[in-house]
Amino acid sequence: MSLHVTFLGTGGAVPSVRRNTSALLVRREGERLLFDCGEGTQRQMMRFGTGFDISHLFVTHMHGDHTLGIPGLLQTWDFNDREDGLAIHVPNGERRTMRNLLDGTGTNPGFPVRINEVDPGDAALARDEYEVRAFATEHRTRSVGYAIVEDDRKGRFDRERAEELGVPVGPKFSALHDGESVELDDGTVVTPEQVVGEPRPGRTVVYTGDTRPTDATERIAADADLLVHDATFADADADRAPQTGHSTATEAAELAGHAGAKRLALVHISSRYAGRSELLAEEARAGFDGEVLLPDDGDELEVPYPDS
Ligand SMILES: [Zn+2]
Ligand SMILES: [Zn+2]
Repeated sequence: MSLHVTFLGTGGAVPSVRRNTSALLVRREGERLLFDCGEGTQRQMMRFGTGFDISHLFVTHMHGDHTLGIPGLLQTWDFNDREDGLAIHVPNGERRTMRNLLDGTGTNPGFPVRINEVDPGDAALARDEYEVRAFATEHRTRSVGYAIVEDDRKGRFDRERAEELGVPVGPKFSALHDGESVELDDGTVVTPEQVVGEPRPGRTVVYTGDTRPTDATERIAADADLLVHDATFADADADRAPQTGHSTATEAAELAGHAGAKRLALVHISSRYAGRSELLAEEARAGFDGEVLLPDDGDELEVPYPDS
C-alpha cells in the first residue's frame, strides 16, 4: 500500500511567494485526504498535480491561514458538478464557525457536505486498514491534530517452512496465513504459529497543525514514521512561541526525539525566515537524531513500512 504525502503549503500565518499557507495532502492507495486548506490550496493542488478528488477534509482549527481555501475549493467542485459527498472534520464546538464560513461566502454546493465535530481520541475516519485519529493540541483557539494510524499487518508467511511441514500449496496456505490451524491428510495439525511470523506494524503519520508541544502529540507520535510538526520559530524568537501558541523547531525536535519518531518535517515556517529557513532545520538537527526535513511547497515523500 503506498502512503504518499504532498506538502501543499508550508508557510506560517502569512503566505509568501515561496511558501503558501497550511495544507497537507495524503494519498493512501486511491484515497486522498486533505489536512487544512489555507487560501490558494486549490491552485497548489493544480500546480503540483496531486489530483482533486478528496472525500475527507481535516481541519485542525479555524484560523484563516488553515481554512480560507475551503470556500473556493468547494465552489470549484460545485462548478465541476461534483456529486460525491464531502466530510469536513473540525474541532468540537466549531461546526457553526465552519457553517458561517461557507454561508458567508455563498458556498452552497449541490453535493452533500457533512461537518463533523471531533474530540481528541475520536476516530474522525475509520477505514478497514487504518483510521484518522484526533489528538489534543494547544493553540490559542479550539484545536486538534490528526494522526493516520494503520492497523498491524499479518505476519510474514514462511512458505518454505509450510512446505517442509507437508502443507500442500493452495487454500491451506491462506487459511494458515489468516490465523487458522489446518489438518493434513495424515492427520497432523499445523498451527499458524508454526508458519506465520509476528504481526508487522502499520505506519503512523502525525500532523499537528498549529500548537505548542503537547503530551498527546508525544504519545501519538511514538515510533511514528513521519511527524509533521509546527516549527514556526527559531531559537532566537523562542519567547514568541508560547505567546502565540506555536513551537520552535528545537521544541519540535525534542518532542520527536522523546516520541522516537523516525522522521520530522518542519512546517508553518514564519515568513521572517525567508531566505534563511535552513536555520530551523539546523536547530532541529541539533536536538533530534532522526531525519529532519524542511519541505518546500510541492515536496512529496513516500512513507515506507517500518520493516521494509
Ligand atoms: Zn497557522
Ligand atoms: Zn493558528
